[in-house]
Formats: sequence, structure tokens, C-alpha cells
Amino acid sequence: MVGGGGGGGGNPVEQQASVHRIFTEYLERKGHRKTPERFAILSEVYAQDGHFDIERLYGRMKVKKYRVSRATLYNTMDLLLDCELVRRHRFTSERSSFEKAHAFRQHDHLICESCGGVTEFCDPRIQQIKNTAAEATGFRPSRHALLIHGLCAACQAKLSTS
Ligand SMILES: [Zn+2]
Ligand SMILES: [Zn+2]
Repeated sequence: MVGGGGGGGGNPVEQQASVHRIFTEYLERKGHRKTPERFAILSEVYAQDGHFDIERLYGRMKVKKYRVSRATLYNTMDLLLDCELVRRHRFTSERSSFEKAHAFRQHDHLICESCGGVTEFCDPRIQQIKNTAAEATGFRPSRHALLIHGLCAACQAKLSTS
């Protein structure tokens, strides 16, 4: 299974309103223009479930007849990363995956080396490890990345039957 995202974040209308507000404040603070294209991209990002890549998002926006160029899309994703409304992952070496980050439950990822499937898991002990490490060293953590590579259950089953 790819993705498995979702959960958290309250109702979608409220969520769209609060990310819209955060992005508006960010653009004003940084002196960036508040173009309708940027807000259209933000809404599309928050309409996605789970993980997605920019090209897939671009394709979807084309189908929906948005007039957004690739350059604007890439540039806006950089802004969304900068204000922490999206997270970027490198599950494989070829391309980056993105997911919405606002009001989302903390989770980490299991990557299947055979089918490329990404499974999410959530374990509060990881937060505890972060706190313990921070206390012991006086370090102030901002974010972390944990990827566990291996074989998913389906691929193991396929291997054992063939
Ligand atoms: Zn697999
Ligand atoms: Zn995820």
C-alpha cells in the first residue's frame, strides 16, 4: 500500500481556512506576492491524501484546468516547505515525495525495497527518544527523519511462493 496518510487535522474546511491564514501571514512577512495561483496550489496540496510527488500534483491541476506553470508549482512548493505547511521525504533516490504537514499526527515511514510501497507508523516512543536526547545534550530539536527500509508483507509472501 502506498500512502496510508490521512487522519488528524480536524474537519477539512477548518483546516483549509487555517492553512490559508498561515500561508497569507507567511507571504506578507516575507514580502512575497499573494497570487491566486499560490493559494490554488495550497488548496490542492491540502486536498491530497497521503504522499504525492510534484509531477502527479501538476498532472491533477492540469486536468482540473488550473492555469499553473511548472515553475510556479515548484516555486510555491519551496515556499510551503519553508513555512512548514508541507514535509518533503526522499523515499527513493529518484524523486521527492511530499505530504501536508499542518495539524498532522507525527509519523514515520517503512519503505519496501521491492515494490517501493510506503507504510506509515506512529509510535510515541520516538518523541520520548527525541526528548531524552535533547535533555541529555541541551540540544533543541526541530524535526527528525526516520526511514526504515526492508520488505513489506505482500512482497515477502510473493517471494516465499515463487
Ligand atoms: Zn513491497
Ligand atoms: Zn507520511
